Amino acid sequence: MVWVARRWLSKMAFEYEAKMNKDRVELKGLFPNELGDAVAGLGLARYRTRQLVDWLYNKGVTKFDDMTNLSKDVRQQLTDNFTILDLNVVGEVKTESEDTVKFLFSLPDGRRIESVLMWEGKRRTLCVSSQVGCPLDCHFCATGKMGLIRNLSAAEIVDQVLYGQRFLRQRGEELTNVVMMGMGEPLLNFDQVLRAIRLMNLDFGAAIGIRRITLSTAGHVPGIKRLSEEKLKIGLAVSLNATTDAQRTMIMPINKKWPIAELLAAVKDYQTYIGRWITFEYVLLHGLNDSADDAHRLIDLVGDISCKINVIPWNPIDGGDYQRPSQKAIDLFVEILAQAQLTATVRYSKGDDIGAGCGQLYQALETVA
Ligand code: SAH
Repeated sequence: MVWVARRWLSKMAFEYEAKMNKDRVELKGLFPNELGDAVAGLGLARYRTRQLVDWLYNKGVTKFDDMTNLSKDVRQQLTDNFTILDLNVVGEVKTESEDTVKFLFSLPDGRRIESVLMWEGKRRTLCVSSQVGCPLDCHFCATGKMGLIRNLSAAEIVDQVLYGQRFLRQRGEELTNVVMMGMGEPLLNFDQVLRAIRLMNLDFGAAIGIRRITLSTAGHVPGIKRLSEEKLKIGLAVSLNATTDAQRTMIMPINKKWPIAELLAAVKDYQTYIGRWITFEYVLLHGLNDSADDAHRLIDLVGDISCKINVIPWNPIDGGDYQRPSQKAIDLFVEILAQAQLTATVRYSKGDDIGAGCGQLYQALETVA
């Protein structure tokens, strides 16, 4: 009896909590005009918006009670109507070379995601996640093995960037670049990703220039088309990873839906639109896509697109039946591309010793957790 009552009570409490959160609006996901409207909607003076922006973005405060220039009543009103997301850092790991730090964040529902901060010359680049897991099931990728758990909200995406920016500013540095290349397929969470990109660009937020933001896709063609419709000139990276449809379908099921020719046509259009180079990523898998023939086919495929190629020797993951090619095979592959005047760089994944290399995020997350 007691047990039934308790269970009933906790169900009530749970529903109450869910309703409260659902009815409250997350401030970090709002544009300034929306924030202004929300504040005005409570009958508060407009200048409160400026105060809120200052607390949220300059002072990094995450509790209304800490907003000391607001009266108790106003703070209560804000608490009743809004939430402030605070990504909880539950792990932070540095590579031995100290040029890469991985942050493990816990989300309000307890799910976990990662961001990776990389120092490269004058650049400070943050690689951010767009989904918890990923539905695309690329066979060589650890995140793909999780399946999709859920999309991230714009606030959850932009807060990774705000955190990275705060982390650097405390050291007298600035975040210069953002790559949407962490967990997930950003174009499958288009609206939230787009909102997050616009938010991270705002002066009072992380202030990342649009041209310093790059989105990486496994090849979601409608999403690439939509990017140009949105008139947002962000950089585009495309994970090509193979040179024939048979090969690509074998490792990336998305290729069944949007085969190479269709993908490259969309990429070409986007390139014409932004007038900037496209990046192609090419994960090198021993005996699968690393032959001299592959290199030549790759040259033919991307020949009429202004691009650079990032060759990424595969980072081992648990349960992956692939092998990283030998150094000789990697060098030969890149040499063939270079002879054809293609700009190709080998990306020895930063952070692979801490499980933060491309595609290793999920497993790293499991071991750190
Ligand atoms: N879904 C997006 C972004 C996430 S993956 C995309 O596919 O582009 C980021 C990059 O890591 C992609 O180029 C992907 O091909 C690469 N990658 C994934 N797993 C990898 C692994 N185990 N080793 C090396 N690169 C990997």
